[in-house]
Amino acid sequence: MDPTQTAVRAVHDVGPDAVAIDLESPTEFDAQPGQFVKLTFDLADKLEFEALERLAAEGELDVETADELERGDEVLVSRFYTISSPDVGDTFEITVGIDPEGTLAPVLADLSAGDVVTVSGPFGNDYYEGEDPAVILAGGPGVGPAIGIAERALAEDNRAAVVYRDDVPIHQDRLSDLRDEGATVTLLAAGEDLPPVVADVLDDYGADSQLFVYGFADFIDDATSAIDAAGGDSEGAKIENFG
Ligand SMILES: Cc1cc2nc3c(=O)[nH]c(=O)nc-3n(C[C@H](O)[C@H](O)[C@H](O)COP(=O)(O)OP(=O)(O)OC[C@H]3O[C@@H](n4cnc5c(N)ncnc54)[C@H](O)[C@@H]3O)c2cc1C
Repeated sequence: MDPTQTAVRAVHDVGPDAVAIDLESPTEFDAQPGQFVKLTFDLADKLEFEALERLAAEGELDVETADELERGDEVLVSRFYTISSPDVGDTFEITVGIDPEGTLAPVLADLSAGDVVTVSGPFGNDYYEGEDPAVILAGGPGVGPAIGIAERALAEDNRAAVVYRDDVPIHQDRLSDLRDEGATVTLLAAGEDLPPVVADVLDDYGADSQLFVYGFADFIDDATSAIDAAGGDSEGAKIENFG
């Protein structure tokens, strides 16, 4: 789907510095948990000059320095967000981890019902396709697709396990519901070792379980090492690197 305007239906706090945003599904939009969308905003009136300079220097703008911007110019900034609802109906959900120093995430945190955003997608090939069991390793905001996939797996009478590492865990209610419904959910603090936990989960669910890995690059590295150490199939894992 090309860039399309759609409305925000609701914004929920799901922990410190994290929101889940329900967006109205544009006509004929469909996606699976684990796929991601691109959100694009005009930040011309929202960013300080220093932030514009940084974006220009990083090649994110059409100009090479912020000085070249003229009054009325758009400053279009895009970021990707992964679907965290188990399916797409009238609405779908994304989960956003907010670094207050970040460029776009704080703008997303300020959204409320009725605001309009520009969305395109879905993108990505590493999503849930009915596998049983689904073993999902998530770091930071990677917990969004983790819960979406686990909820979808249980809804299809499949088994699911989530290993989630974060400094402050978010989406605690949904994780607790998943546990109540029979999923294995293991929370790890930042810096805690993944290998023993991944080994335990693969012992319980089988080394040939379909693995899913979502998070920023450092987490992806740790997770693939842990999978290899546990005798799992990191080559066959479905992995989305958040950057
Ligand atoms: C395929 C894909 C899917 C994504 N899905 C999600 C998602 O579902 N939810 C979500 O919150 N984000 C997701 N992201 C990341 C998101 O697109 C943005 O990069 C993020 O929101 C930060 O944007 P920003 O403009 O606020 O920060 P920027 O101004 O771009 O600044 C970078 C900020 O990104 C974060 N960051 C960058 N690298 C790391 C890292 N290695 N470890 C921890 N934090 C880091 C930090 O907050 C950092 O301050 C995804 C990225 C990709 C490529």
